[in-house]
Amino acid sequence: MNIVPTMRTRPLILNVDDDAANRSVKSRSLLMGDMEVIEGEDGTSALALIAERQPVLVLLGVNPPDVGGLEVCRRIKAEWPDIVVIQIAATSTSAAEKIVGLESGADCYLTAPVDPLELIAVTRAMLRLRQAEGLAREASERYRMIVESAVDCAIFTCGLDGSVTSWNTGAQAVLGYRAEEIVGEPSARIFMTEDIAADVPDNEMRAAHQGLSVRSERWHRRRDGTRFWSSGRMVALRDRRGTVAGYLKILCDRTVEKDARDALEALKQELEHRVAERTRDLAAANEHLRAEIVEREKAGEQIRQRQKMEALGQLTGGIAHDFNNLLTAILGGLEVTRRRIEDPRGLRLIDSSISAAQRGAKLIAQLLAFARKQNLRVEYLSLNTLVYEMRELIEQSVGAAVRLEYNLAADVWPVLADANQVRTAMLNLVVNARDAMPDGGVLRIATENTCVAVPEADLAAGEYAALSVRDDGIGMPPEVLERLFEPFFTTKDVGKGTGLGLAHVYGFVRQSGGGVRVHSVVGEGTTITILLPRASGTDVETAAPIDNPR
Ligand code: ADP
Ligand code: MG
Repeated sequence: MNIVPTMRTRPLILNVDDDAANRSVKSRSLLMGDMEVIEGEDGTSALALIAERQPVLVLLGVNPPDVGGLEVCRRIKAEWPDIVVIQIAATSTSAAEKIVGLESGADCYLTAPVDPLELIAVTRAMLRLRQAEGLAREASERYRMIVESAVDCAIFTCGLDGSVTSWNTGAQAVLGYRAEEIVGEPSARIFMTEDIAADVPDNEMRAAHQGLSVRSERWHRRRDGTRFWSSGRMVALRDRRGTVAGYLKILCDRTVEKDARDALEALKQELEHRVAERTRDLAAANEHLRAEIVEREKAGEQIRQRQKMEALGQLTGGIAHDFNNLLTAILGGLEVTRRRIEDPRGLRLIDSSISAAQRGAKLIAQLLAFARKQNLRVEYLSLNTLVYEMRELIEQSVGAAVRLEYNLAADVWPVLADANQVRTAMLNLVVNARDAMPDGGVLRIATENTCVAVPEADLAAGEYAALSVRDDGIGMPPEVLERLFEPFFTTKDVGKGTGLGLAHVYGFVRQSGGGVRVHSVVGEGTTITILLPRASGTDVETAAPIDNPR
């Protein structure tokens, strides 16, 4: 490794004096003061030496003979302002002459003869000054370079009152003002009117004063009135003692970035908007499709249900018909036999056989009703009247735990139907409603006029008088709803239900040209409505509506 010892270079001094003895005395002193010395004997040679060797300091002895001392000094300062000049004047120099010497550029004026130690001390002092000056200049040059090379950044300072104190090239480029136009002017000038109104310039300075580095992102105004988006910072400028002397502000033009960001944001929003729109469309289409599928399934289900009921009806009808004939024959035979028997035990036996056969006949009648094969005795009826007549029987059937409510439409249309069948149907519905409310509840019987505009399953379009029985009982799950009209379908215990009640209702109503509607929600209750076609052209007496019992 090659180590080069660093040596403190000794300052080079040019010692000019036409008197050789004087000159060498001074040179010796300077050498003693650890300085390197070169000598010149007149002005011309001195100037040549300066140009050649660049000394840091020139000791200019009493007036050189060729070029006058003042002139030499002036020329040195004109060409090499950094070189320190110490002028040594003759003993007899007046204050006025000293002043002239200093005015012509000398940095220091001594009077001959100079004490050797004083010479060393003064020279050193001058060198120290020169060095400090050089360092300061270097530092300020360095800062100037830094600040000025930030050409796309506005860097400026302002005083405590906010007026601009310095303005870099970048500030001119970004904001449009030249330094001489804005230095001394209020820095608020570069703010937008609304920011000035909101006290932003003062607030920034206040925050900086408190020691914060104040960041900002905002619009600023250029000299030509146009605006730019800036990202900025402001800090307080403090002197060595920490006292705030002003503020430094750095502003960068970020308009391009902001525009890009804004465009991107707009694009993003537009995209999101479109995606949302598409999603909505898609959801709507899906919903439409789903509804269509449900609709089709429902229609398919209704067709299947109708076919099933149709097949069941035919089967039941055939069997019931045959059994009806058989039972008629059996009952006939039993009646004849009864008349011929006298033994009381034999009579009892016959009687119980007759009542069993009659119960059978009743069942068969219900089956026939389901199969729509009954002999109906139709007449003009008012549903209200029927309800009115049935009140007592209904009350007895439901028991005390159930409250009855009637809601009969006064102008309900007349119907053409078998009164007995309607009564039986009504009772069937009431009993079912009661069974659905083992802990009691409210049973509502209502009549109203109903227009069916769109044909429903088992119900043609037209005008109907409706009788509905509604309970707030247990309701029906789908698997019960699907089968409730089937003969012998029951969910009740053996001996409690035959499963023929609703089969009868359904068959009779259908045979009468009407239909049955069921609405049921598990846990909330059931409404079953019988719709019978409106009978036209005849007035039927309508019984007075029943008041709801309190
Ligand atoms: P049954 O009453 O003999 O059981 P129905 O034909 O009258 O036969 O009724 C068939 C089934 O329908 C009943 O077992 C019951 O499950 C159901 N049901 C009928 N009406 C109602 C109602 N109002 N609330 C709840 N379920 C009912
Ligand atoms: Mg029943």
